[in-house]
Amino acid sequence: MVLTGRTPTRRRLAAAVTALTCAIAVAAAGCTRDDGFRPGAADTGDPYVPGSGNGGYDVTHYGLDVSYDPASDRLTGRATITATATQDLSRFNLDLAGLAVSRVTVGDARAEHRRVDGELVVTPHDGLPRGRPFTVAVDYAGVPTAVTDGELGSGGFLHTADGAVALGQPDSAATWFPVNDHPSDKASYDLAVTVPDGLSALSNGVPGPKSSVDGWTTWRWSERTPMASYLTTLVIGDYRVVSGSHAGRPMVTAVAASLPATGGAARALARTGEIVDFLASRFGPYPFDSYGGIVVTDDRIGYALETQSRPVYGPDFFADDRPNVGVVAHELAHQWFGDSVSLSRWGDIWLNEGFASYAEWLWEEHDGGRTAQRNFELQYAATDWSQPSVEPGRERMFGTAVYKRGALTVHALRRTVGDDTFFRILRTWTAERAGGNATTSDFVALAERVANRQLRPLFDAWLVGGAAPTLP
Ligand SMILES: [Zn+2]
Repeated sequence: MVLTGRTPTRRRLAAAVTALTCAIAVAAAGCTRDDGFRPGAADTGDPYVPGSGNGGYDVTHYGLDVSYDPASDRLTGRATITATATQDLSRFNLDLAGLAVSRVTVGDARAEHRRVDGELVVTPHDGLPRGRPFTVAVDYAGVPTAVTDGELGSGGFLHTADGAVALGQPDSAATWFPVNDHPSDKASYDLAVTVPDGLSALSNGVPGPKSSVDGWTTWRWSERTPMASYLTTLVIGDYRVVSGSHAGRPMVTAVAASLPATGGAARALARTGEIVDFLASRFGPYPFDSYGGIVVTDDRIGYALETQSRPVYGPDFFADDRPNVGVVAHELAHQWFGDSVSLSRWGDIWLNEGFASYAEWLWEEHDGGRTAQRNFELQYAATDWSQPSVEPGRERMFGTAVYKRGALTVHALRRTVGDDTFFRILRTWTAERAGGNATTSDFVALAERVANRQLRPLFDAWLVGGAAPTLP
C-alpha cells in the first residue's frame, strides 16, 4: 500500500466490542459440549484487527457468485467456501459486515445461523471433526457498506458514480462476502460477478469467459495461488480495459474511462510488464498466473493497494497527468512481499512495506534516477529512531517507521552481507515462502542461514533500536 499523504482517521473500538459481545454470546449459548467438540474462536487474537478472522478451521477455496446493480446499490451473493476443521468443531464464525443472510448450508444440510455484529455464526447440524474438509454455502444480499473509519480513509465496499470499488487494508473483504478475514488464512478464489451490460467488473487473477443474458453480463475471474482476503478487490464501472499477455500469462489493465486514453495513469500502467520483469530479475520469478492494474477515479481512494496480481491505484498518484511509476514499482514489489509471502500477523507489516519501499529505490536507480545508496543516505538522516518498524502500534501500521525505516533495514542488510548474498537471501525467501505466511523471526533466521552468519543484532538495531545505528 502507498498512501497519498492525507490525514488518516482513527478506527473506533467497535471491533473490540464485537469480539467481547461474541465471547459473551458463546457463554450464553452454552455451547460447550461434553463430546469434545467446541466452538471455533471468533477472532485470531491479532491486536491490530480485533474481531477480524476466526479460529477452528482453515479455508482452502472461495467460490463467489455475486451480482451488483449500481442503480439500487444492491448486491446479491452466494459464497461457497471449502475449508478444513482444525479442531473438533461444534460451531464456527465467518466475518460479514452488514448484508442479510437468508440461508446457510454445511455439506448438504441446512445449518443454523445468526448474526453478532460483524460475525456470521454458523452451527452445523453435526459437529465437524478435526481434519475433515467441509463446504459451507451462504446466500446473502443487501446494500454493502463502506469502512469509513479505517486508518486509511475510505475502504470496504464503496458505491461510486458509475459502479463500485471494494478495496482496503487491513480489512475490506467482509463488506462483500463472508470470509475468514485475516491474512493468516489464505485461499484460492473463483469469482463470477454479474453487472448491467456495458459496465466492466474487474477482479484478481486470470479472466474467464464472459456471458450475457437479458441485459446483464457475467465476468469471471480465477486466482489459483493462495490469496489473503484483504488482497481481493472488485471494481465495477466504466473502464477502458486492455486485455493482452505478458511472458505467456494474461495481462489485464483497466483505467477509468473518464481519464485520458494516453494520460499519466495509462502511461504508468503500460509499464507494468517492464517493471515486473525488472523486479523478477532481483526477487525471483513472478509468483502469479496473471498481471495487471486498475486505476480508479473515486477520490475517497486516497491510496494504492497491492491487490493480488492486479493492484488498484487511487487517482491522486496521477494528478497533473504524471506517469507515476514509483507507485507502480511499489505495488508490484508487493506481489512478492506481502501477496506471495504474506504476514502471519499485522505487527510484522514492515515485511511488506519495507521491501516494497526498498523496491522503489531499486527501480528509481534502474530507471536512471537516484541510486538506492543515495536514497538510503537521505532517509537515514531524516529518520526518527524512536519509532520501531516491528510492532509499530495500530495507529502507525502505515507510518514512516514501517515503510522508510523498513527500507533502511533492507539496505543495511545489503551493505552488511554484500550484493550476492543479499539477493540470494531475497530469492531464497520468495521461493521457500511462496504462497505462505511468515514472521520477522522467520526472515531473520533465513537471512542468517543463507549468509551463514549472525544477523539478529543488525536487525534489532535497524528495526527497533532507539538510536541511529552505526552505518554498515
Ligand atoms: Zn505498500
